[in-house]
Amino acid sequence: MRTVPGVEDLGGGVWSIPVPIPANPLGYTLVYALETPRGPVLVDAGWEHEESWAALDAGLRAAGSSPEQVHGVVVTHFHPDHAGLAGRVRAASGCWVAMHHADAEMVRRIDALGGLAGGGLHIETEQLRRAGAPQAAIEEYARTDPRLDPPAEPDTELADGDPVDVPGRKLRTVWTPGHSPGHICLHLEDADRLFTGDHVLPRITPHIGLYPFTTDGPDDRDPLGAFLESLARLPDAVPRPGTVEALPAHEARFTGLDDRVAGILAHHEEKLDTLAAALEAAAPGPATLWELCAALPWRHGWDRMPIVQRRLAASETAAHLRALERRGLAAVTETPAGVLTWRRTHG
Ligand SMILES: [Zn+2]
Ligand SMILES: [Zn+2]
Repeated sequence: MRTVPGVEDLGGGVWSIPVPIPANPLGYTLVYALETPRGPVLVDAGWEHEESWAALDAGLRAAGSSPEQVHGVVVTHFHPDHAGLAGRVRAASGCWVAMHHADAEMVRRIDALGGLAGGGLHIETEQLRRAGAPQAAIEEYARTDPRLDPPAEPDTELADGDPVDVPGRKLRTVWTPGHSPGHICLHLEDADRLFTGDHVLPRITPHIGLYPFTTDGPDDRDPLGAFLESLARLPDAVPRPGTVEALPAHEARFTGLDDRVAGILAHHEEKLDTLAAALEAAAPGPATLWELCAALPWRHGWDRMPIVQRRLAASETAAHLRALERRGLAAVTETPAGVLTWRRTHG
């Protein structure tokens, strides 16, 4: 578990408030508070938990404010470590909550399913079956209990380029889909600082998953393709990518955005090559997603990974397969039992 750093005054009216994510290896979310004459505007809010709320409350007080004085919360994306406490901050202060419209749509879908992984459990176990997961793994997944309340619905929906209501300051939306459909970075133009959310982190890379594990019919979602594109474009969205201060939601702030972007792009190209080689090795027979995952290198070994992690790894592999498919390097077919199999093609 990472040590949670202290609250920090970053200067220029920006505070960093680390909000713990209990029992999670990520350790904490860096919530940023921007001082304005109408009260602070928060970039992300943190995980919904008493311990997290206490840290946010104490952090805002250290910055000379309180949750009741918050003017607005803009969330980089709908994930619970970012949007979790937004509803509680709004209840305390009457502030607005803003997010990109594509993530607002995700929140409505999660709501309709009855919560993250809530009523959607049977949909998820069916996806595992179609991925070729053995019955024991499917039953193990059905016993897991990651039930969470859906995040708060936003009052304001943002689109690429939109200014965010931060009195006296200039904060602009940069749409960066991939990690989530409506992930955004936010450029504080008056101070040349870029809030990067989970899109660009200094050492780790964000999870890019395809849910369900393939697309049917006219649905042509390609989250990895979207991620790589929006990542490659990001340095052009700021005037000085080499020196802009990047303020990520995890780990620590950094400079050298252009180098980090190049590193992450290369990392995924390497993963795509490894996957294409695994497909090649499975020939002549096509392989299920589960078989391909078992053949790939994982830091802790596929067989030793808990089922929740294996499902995430499968969705990440599916996103890479989808990108290969788009490049004409893989093709998916369905067995009579409805299990999906992939083979290598040479587009
Ligand atoms: Zn996230
Ligand atoms: Zn996160």
